[in-house]
Amino acid sequence: MSEEFEEEPKRDKEKARGGEKRKRKEKKISAFYEMRQDQLKRLRPTCERCGPGYFMAQHQDRFTCGHCGLTRYKPAENTNQKTSAP
Ligand SMILES: [Zn+2]
Repeated sequence: MSEEFEEEPKRDKEKARGGEKRKRKEKKISAFYEMRQDQLKRLRPTCERCGPGYFMAQHQDRFTCGHCGLTRYKPAENTNQKTSAP
């Protein structure tokens, strides 16, 4: 009697549950700027209290400064919020 062992291909069980740790995405400082030909455009407003160099974090309806905590609300634009039903 000879037993034959069929070797089953081992399945990679890793990544089955998606247990990958979330990596922090560090934004490069260049993410706050946009080069347009010769002009440098700042994509984020700077804090008026802290001065240039301190960019404000962009939120849904406001900007905040992580340095001093200044909050600036965005000017009201056409939002999708229904204010009154017709
Ligand atoms: Zn500030």
